[in-house]
Amino acid sequence: MPNGSTSPPNAASPPPAKYGGRHTVTLIPGDGIGPELMLHVKEVFRHACVPVDFEEVRVNSEAAEDDVQNAITAIRRNGVALKGNIETNHNLPPSHKSRNNLIRTSLDLYANVIHCQSLPGVETRHRDIDILIVRENTEGEYSSLEHESVAGVVESLKIITAGRSRRIAHYAFGLARAAARRSVTAVHKANIMKLGDGLFLQCCQEVAAEYPEITFRSMIVDNTTMQLVSRPQQFDVMVMPNLYGNIVNNVCAGLVGGPGLVPGANYGHDYAVFETATRNTGKSIANRNIANPTAALLAACMMLDHLRLHSHASTIRQAVLASLDDPRTHTPDIGGQGTTSGAVQSIISHLPRA
Ligand code: ATP
Repeated sequence: MPNGSTSPPNAASPPPAKYGGRHTVTLIPGDGIGPELMLHVKEVFRHACVPVDFEEVRVNSEAAEDDVQNAITAIRRNGVALKGNIETNHNLPPSHKSRNNLIRTSLDLYANVIHCQSLPGVETRHRDIDILIVRENTEGEYSSLEHESVAGVVESLKIITAGRSRRIAHYAFGLARAAARRSVTAVHKANIMKLGDGLFLQCCQEVAAEYPEITFRSMIVDNTTMQLVSRPQQFDVMVMPNLYGNIVNNVCAGLVGGPGLVPGANYGHDYAVFETATRNTGKSIANRNIANPTAALLAACMMLDHLRLHSHASTIRQAVLASLDDPRTHTPDIGGQGTTSGAVQSIISHLPRA
């Protein structure tokens, strides 16, 4: 799609601009590198004269249920959010749900979309990668339904429904059509999970019949990961259930240079939340001025496209991509010695002067 939008025509409309053409967006800085990256996004927006005001809501791993509900209410009010990742403490009891997951499911943000694309100036094993990955974001293995039936026996429920499988398949094909893509690959493990993944696959096949101009193929998830690391250029649009999406997103982000480079979006019928594709906290690199700001800035550009502020999105995206030739933007994760602030200065210097 020329404007870089990943929301197809069958997705919800963004909220209208307020008086003076300005938009209010909820900002959730999250934990780890989230807060510093969000400060940089604000700085770049200021230099690019973006008509967006942020309503900041603090939610971290320790946040009480009320704080999370306040964040959800703020997103409902504004319709759109930009967020860093909220850490999920593995040692808390099973009743403690991931705050990130709670936000996504409460707002029914059913489509996670990431665009993995080879970037100029970033050295990687493979070139010419251009994959749109659509992940079902609300059910599957993320049901948070687990119990210990008897001591030493745990059951984790993976929920697959026809309604949500068809909904995500429609999203993927709608996106493929809007972006003039040629093929959609459904990823599954229906040879083992014959009922659950079988249903997902069957729904994708049914929806594919409504899009005759788009080639449909299916691939088992283990073969998919092998094909991705050996010949990633064969993939165009991919659609899959929740956990496979998490894994494939991470593999694909690694293929184009790592978690610091790839943006992600979560769309529902009414709301949209933007974040980095691999949803990392990056606690060990927090406050060290070495986090790569690219993914967060490109996520902010996806958000601007959603708000139909296409020219602002494209100006910032072009500055981010043009600056990748500058060694200052090469932070340690992509093999350089650059700093976050140096990278942001380089990006700002590539913005047209106001
Ligand atoms: P920690 O949070 O302690 O870094 P982790 O295993 O929880 O460890 P994640 O937050 O999942 O790490 O991130 C995975 C890896 O990606 C880490 O090595 C992290 O430093 C790196 N990473 C994530 N985001 C970025 C970024 N924007 N720039 C550079 N490196 C990043």
